[in-house]
This record gives sequence, structure tokens and C-alpha cells, in this order.
Amino acid sequence: MKTLRFILGDQLSQKVSALRGADPATDIVLIVEVQAEAVSVRHHKKKIAFILASMRAFAETLRGQGFTVDYVKMDDPANTGSFDGELDRAITRHQPNALCLTRASEWRVLEMQRHWAETLDLQVLLLEDDRFLCDEAQFRAWAAGRKSFVMEHFYRNMRRRTGLLMEGDQPAGGRWNFDHDNRKPAKPDLFMQLPHRCPPSVQTQEVIELVSTRFAGHFGDLEPFWFATSAREAEIARDHFLANNLPRFGETQDAMLEGQLFLNHAVMSLYLNVGLLEPLDLCRRAELEWQAGRAPLAAVEGFIRQIIGWREYVRGIYWLHAPDYKGFNHLEAKRPLPALYWTGQTKMACMQAAIGQTKREAYAHHIQRLMVTGNFALLAGLDPHEVHEWYLSVYADAFEWVEVPNTIGMALYADGGIMASKPYAASGAYIHKMSDYCERCAYDPSVKSGPRACPFNPLYWDFIGRNEGKLGSNPRMGPVYATWRKMGQSRREEIGADSQRILEALDNGQL
Ligand code: SF4
Repeated sequence: MKTLRFILGDQLSQKVSALRGADPATDIVLIVEVQAEAVSVRHHKKKIAFILASMRAFAETLRGQGFTVDYVKMDDPANTGSFDGELDRAITRHQPNALCLTRASEWRVLEMQRHWAETLDLQVLLLEDDRFLCDEAQFRAWAAGRKSFVMEHFYRNMRRRTGLLMEGDQPAGGRWNFDHDNRKPAKPDLFMQLPHRCPPSVQTQEVIELVSTRFAGHFGDLEPFWFATSAREAEIARDHFLANNLPRFGETQDAMLEGQLFLNHAVMSLYLNVGLLEPLDLCRRAELEWQAGRAPLAAVEGFIRQIIGWREYVRGIYWLHAPDYKGFNHLEAKRPLPALYWTGQTKMACMQAAIGQTKREAYAHHIQRLMVTGNFALLAGLDPHEVHEWYLSVYADAFEWVEVPNTIGMALYADGGIMASKPYAASGAYIHKMSDYCERCAYDPSVKSGPRACPFNPLYWDFIGRNEGKLGSNPRMGPVYATWRKMGQSRREEIGADSQRILEALDNGQL
């Protein structure tokens, strides 16, 4: 039986279910580059190049193993530019008996796959994506009957299921979570190894040229391009991280330093999310570093929690609430996304740094995303859908299943508390404590009002005041609202006037 095995750009793994049992003698692997996916939002140029180059490298690997790969390049004159069109053409070319698919990671594409299953005149196998450790049914079973979906409870469940960092039925070291040891600010003189940089292959160079002409108007710098684009390269980058950065990953994971874009972060999420690395294998290797005495438990536990905890949890939340989740706007925020999110042109040093490095590298770490650009969007009342499209566009690791819960839920509280028990709102004091950005800023984190005040300070209290109806009875916000309610009328008016001035400056490109 001839089976057409259609692999998507984030399914670049030899173990993906659509390739299981494939017969190189009869089956055809279909991989297509389509314009419609690259422009579904205006993705960062480096992100498009990373995915296309990884797809081409994966096709080469499969060919080397004897598979027949039907690979359609984006600049093929016959390319229709859509999944529907390319699947139709491939079926006409190959006349397969069956079509084999792995479930797409995004609702919109899964709907396409379901439509194919209903309408095509051939057998369609739509298989679970078992590269994830918790499938949709398992997450639904965990979530059933719960009033709140606390990540920590899910994470402990995943530790027990995987056996990672477990001693019998107890957590290694006697604690499930070592976050308390993992929230230190960093010093600029700390020596930190940069992530492994892979020189672009000839094939990657061709993709870079394609992207530079075809997507010239998209956000972001294409070069220097240094991401791994094959499983082999990603494994080298992984081993470099495990040997050089994992031991200190934990203690500085929430810190932010001007000029130190990566600190000790792994920069592995983009490789995990397209399939170049496997999550459980990566966690087991990190666990081995602890068992061999080369990395402390706090660092390894923090790293593993990001993967079997947060990563699996946000995927579960996405599918539990898709497709509605990205339309949530609990706080009714309406302000359009300001231009500075694209230009990085602002006197706010923290925003300038986070957006500037996003433009250069298609990367910022989780605290820059959550507590700088996300926190500002929350406080300024930016439209969640516009903020969601920005995050989805600009980060190389951003796919809807992981980006939407992180933006709509974690950063913007637009889901009304499904993911977070209270908004991640903070004044300038948090950024001042965790970074060195404020040292060169035009604003002062210790000033609460007037033109020198850090914009996060008045905006924080303005956010608290204008959302009292929705947040005022949240027990976790009790101390904040107690302070707000004791605040005199003149101080409240001062906050209102400062916030209005800041938001006008934001709209005029003067902030
Ligand atoms: Fe950011 Fe405020 Fe610090 Fe400036 S003073 S870097 S705006 S937190």
C-alpha cells in the first residue's frame, strides 16, 4: 500500500507518529514550504529561515535513509502557496492509497487536517503527536473537576509519571521545587558561555537568500544566523548547554543584564518545538548531570520543570480552551499595540533592550517576555489579540499552542485567571531589582510621579485602580487593594494624570 506521509514544519523528528512504520520502498514523505503559513502573521525573518532550513535539512536526512521525499520549495513556480493546494497536487502526482498525518499543534491547521479526513477519497490516518509527554485526553482527565489549574500540581504529577528526579515516590532532595534558590539578580562581571553557534550550511545560506528577498518587509534581522537546523547540530548545542550553562542556569534564570542576552539560558525551546530535540531525552540528560555531580539539583530541577511542567501544562491549557482562548479579553483592554513594539525606539531602557534583542535574535528569555514587554502591555491596557500576534510573530520558538497561553493567560490575565491566580503586574522596582537596565534609563525607578518617574510606577497603580471591579476581591491582591483603598484622593489624581501623560507619549512615540 502506498502511503503519503505529510510532515509539517514543526514535526521534524524521526520519531514523529506520521513516520512510524513507514516503508521506504513504497511510501512518499511530503514536506511543503507554503507562503500562507509564513505570512499567517508576519513572522520574524530569522524564524522563517530557521523553520525552512530545518525542513530542508530534515528532508535530506530522510533521503539519506532511503526515503523518497517529495519536497516542494517555496519558490517552485508551481507551488500554490497553501497546504490544501499542495496536498491536492501531491495526491495527483503520487495517487496514494492512504494519507498519514500527525495531529497539528495548532487548532487552525488541525481543522484543515480534519477536513481532509472527511473529504478526501482515500484512507486518512490522523495520529496523536506523542512527542509530547501528556496527551490531550490525559490533560483533560487531570483538569476534570478542578476549580483552578495549578501548574505545580500538574508538574508533580508529571514528575511521578516520568520518574524524573524521583527517589521512590518522593522528590529528590526532599523538595519538589527549588525556585526559592533560583531568583537571584546577576552581576555583569559573571562569566557566561554564549549558546553554541552553528555556521549556516550552504543549504541554510540559500534559505537566508530566499527569506531576504521574499520577506524583506518582515520584522527582524536575518543575520547573523546561528541557529542549529538539524538534529545533529541541535544535539551539539544541547551538549554545550549541559556542560557549560546548566550548572548556573537556575540561579540567574530570572535575571536580566544589558549586553548579556542569554545569561545561562538554554535556548533549546525552538529546537524542541520543531522536533530537532526530544523533551524527555533532554530532561534525562539534565538529570544525569545532577546524578554525576556536575550540576546542582536546584538548577536541574528548575530546567526540568520548564519542560515537563510548564511546556506540557501550557499545551494542555491551549487544547482545553482552543479555539476560543486567543479571543479572551477579561480586562477589556483596547489600546492598539504601539509602534515601539516594532521599532524598539523608546527612552525606557528595559523595553529598548528587550525589543532590540528580539529584533536581532528572535529571542528574549521568559522574564523579559513576562515582566518587561508583557508587564508593560498589561499595565498600559494593550489589546490582547494584537499583543498575541506580536509575540507569535517575533520569537523563533513561538507556536500558537505555547504562545497563546503564555500571552493571553500568563502575561495579560486576559483569560480571567485560568492560568494565573493573579495578574503578573509589577512596578519598576521589580525590573530594577532583577536587571541593570535602570542604570542607563532616562527614567528613575525610585521616582513615583512626574516626568522622571519610571512609567511602570504610575501605570501600575492606574492598572490597579481601573481594574478594581474585576480584581478587587481577589484574595491574592488583598494587600495591594488595601494600599490602594487607603490612598488619598490627591495621590490617585496624580497617578491618573501621570498615566494619561505617559499613554499620550506612548501613542505619540515620545515615551
Ligand atoms: Fe524600565 Fe523604569 Fe528601569 Fe527605565 S527606570 S529601565 S523604564 S524599569
